Amino acid sequence: HAKACGRNNVERFQPTLAQAADRRIALSRLLHDALEQNSFELAYQPQVDLRTQRVTGVEALIRWHDPAIGTVSPATFIPLAEEIGLIGAIGEWVLLTACTQARQWEHALPDLRMSVNVSPRQLARGDFCDVVARVLASTGLAAHRLELEITEGALVAPGALPTLRALSEMGLSIAIDDFGTGYSSLSYLRSFHADRLKIDLSFVRGIGTSSADEAIIRAILALADSLGFETVAEGVEQTAQLAFLVDHGCAVVQGYHFSAALPADEIPACIERLSAQWPSAQPACAPVP
Ligand code: C2E
Ligand code: MG
Ligand code: MG
Ligand code: MG
Repeated sequence: HAKACGRNNVERFQPTLAQAADRRIALSRLLHDALEQNSFELAYQPQVDLRTQRVTGVEALIRWHDPAIGTVSPATFIPLAEEIGLIGAIGEWVLLTACTQARQWEHALPDLRMSVNVSPRQLARGDFCDVVARVLASTGLAAHRLELEITEGALVAPGALPTLRALSEMGLSIAIDDFGTGYSSLSYLRSFHADRLKIDLSFVRGIGTSSADEAIIRAILALADSLGFETVAEGVEQTAQLAFLVDHGCAVVQGYHFSAALPADEIPACIERLSAQWPSAQPACAPVP
């Protein structure tokens, strides 16, 4: 992660236990401040449908740059926000911001689907469906344009399945994120209606070098096909990875090969470039430094 987060990255720091505890307390305070001061941002990564060669959705990814400590990865601060009870508030901010953005793009990009990550503790809150319903009502976004990405770990939490069924009945789509890396049993797949499986980037990374990773991807694609899930591969960086996924019938891809997650104002032009340049071996939108 350090590489992706730039020079001021707090993760470069190799702490002792006491230093790690101090750092967590300091980070917790900064997280509270960031929420209060509205200093989170969302970046959006295009998802390309390989069947139509069009960008059909974007995934909203939270970004946090603190003036004092630099950029902190969501892989670091989202788990902390879960532990200190801030995930509900942060998650609601993410939902509201993403849905508002989808509405702002609606004229130019009327069918664009907005995918939002939901953490296990957020989903487990008793009021999660109400929060989603309230955000849809206040932004006026049609439910079918919103997708929630949940991990396998969230599926095993008590109460998760009825919540997901209710969300699905509201017309949202549900994607299982990082599929194949969690601890859930495959039997969960038949207990509620998910729409898409997202193949974790750790498998995509092995295309061309790991026959095990390739076999896992083929198995996920076959499973998804027979159970009626659409597949999304994440972390597609190289032409050879894309070719493998096309050959094996993966429906949708996202990754640096097409574009990194970008600030909102760069997305309409990026989507236009991606449509015009397809099928290109060159990334159409340079990754954010
Ligand atoms: P995720 O949902 O599985 O998101 C995929 C991650 O892979 C993102 O990292 C994305 O920027 C990165 N990525 C995309 N394309 C490529 C590629 O081609 N190569 C590589 N190496 N990486 C790629 P990011 O934004 O740092 O997010 C990390 C994780 O933090 C996410 O994993 C998700 O679990 C969590 N997260 C991010 N935003 C939110 C949020 O708004 N709410 C919640 N609850 N979790 C979030
Ligand atoms: Mg995701
Ligand atoms: Mg993922
Ligand atoms: Mg992940």
